[in-house]
Amino acid sequence: MFELRKLPYDKNSMGDFLSPTTFEYHYGKHHQTYVNNLNNLIKGTEFENADLYEIITKSNGGLFNNAAQVYNHDFYWDCITPKATNRSADLDSAINAEFGSLDAFKEKFLSLATTLFGSGWCWLVLDPANKKLEIIQTSNAATPITQNKVPLLVVDVWEHAYYVDHKNARPAYLEKFFNHINWEFVSEAYSYAIKEGINSIKHYINVYVPEMNKRA
Ligand code: MN
Repeated sequence: MFELRKLPYDKNSMGDFLSPTTFEYHYGKHHQTYVNNLNNLIKGTEFENADLYEIITKSNGGLFNNAAQVYNHDFYWDCITPKATNRSADLDSAINAEFGSLDAFKEKFLSLATTLFGSGWCWLVLDPANKKLEIIQTSNAATPITQNKVPLLVVDVWEHAYYVDHKNARPAYLEKFFNHINWEFVSEAYSYAIKEGINSIKHYINVYVPEMNKRA
């Protein structure tokens, strides 16, 4: 059985970015439900003993949606932090090379996150084929893993991610999100992605988030 991952911080720690109520619903109800659905849907199928990466890359329909949403949320929680963090020199260089500056990256990332229509996710990814950074939007449960891109940073722009604290003001949520990015985590993800390519996704799923590796 897969288990709901632990949060890497206290649910009371995010100030006016995310309230404890948001964590109670977004993490405690929505994320938990994706985990429960995933466990129910793999029962008696070829995926019963598969790891999460295999399920995401080989399934479709409801099983894909729930498996991908488990991964997307696991990753999202790691991308935010109550603490101030720093980018590695390598990540800074890559952002400057691709986007010109951190400010230009912020403007583009938040613009794409703001304009994503409906429910979905906005990602910074590394394309292992050319080792370049890219910003991509995905709708609903879709995840860059199926496009062979390595996630480095994500923001959840489903309304359930921000409605309790920011009502309909997605841009206000996104501004606060940017100030709570865990750059240490993103820098580590970047370093792994450069070294290991797609394998760094499996490392994240099976080693970094141990709850995803608890099989019956
Ligand atoms: Mn969500």
